[in-house]
Amino acid sequence: MDAEALLAAIADEVRGCIRCPLHAGRSRTVPGEGNPLSDVLVVGEGPGAREDATGRPFVGPAGQLLDELFHSIGWARADVFIANVVKCRPPGNRDPEPTEVATCAPYLERQEAALDPAVIVTLGRHSLHRYLPDAGIGAVHGRLRRVGGRFVFPMYHPAAALHQSSLRETLFNDIRGLPAALVTAREAIEAERAELLPAATLDPAQSASAAEVDEAEQMTLF
Ligand code: URA
Repeated sequence: MDAEALLAAIADEVRGCIRCPLHAGRSRTVPGEGNPLSDVLVVGEGPGAREDATGRPFVGPAGQLLDELFHSIGWARADVFIANVVKCRPPGNRDPEPTEVATCAPYLERQEAALDPAVIVTLGRHSLHRYLPDAGIGAVHGRLRRVGGRFVFPMYHPAAALHQSSLRETLFNDIRGLPAALVTAREAIEAERAELLPAATLDPAQSASAAEVDEAEQMTLF
């Protein structure tokens, strides 16, 4: 199955999910959406009221700011894939419980595996802690980190900037580094793949890494 079919199958499963108590209070699940060919996975915390009503991630006030952030670097939400740590709205927008996060985790793991993104952008601490459990967002935001086999680019949650206006500038500053972070991640992944392949098995198309780097620098996201 290709990434699009895999992501669609995961979304179908999420829509029928009753694995944790959050299912009882939801109107709609929010499996995630975006470009199945993207090299960028954006991971938020969990649906809010508008997301619960529509079944789509980041369509409320925080989503509006996320759209502005992408726009500021010439990207659009349709260029990336957006998902959440939990797929159902926690009542009253409370933090998701650790057991809810753990129960929902296999969906995000499978979305990651299907997309195989060069960079995962975490929004807020719940998303950050999935990849860097001991990190403080204040110390790591805006910088690319290698975590296991993945590249993670932590950012504050846009909703935080709606309550604390100084974070707005931080978010816009941080996202300015994302295109370069994507180039760095792609180059590193490419170099690792090239090392894994014995030189004799590289065909000219595969070894044309300069062309691939050029392509990355044009910020093609898929
Ligand atoms: N906040 C999130 O973390 N995710 C959404 O989808 C919406 C708001």
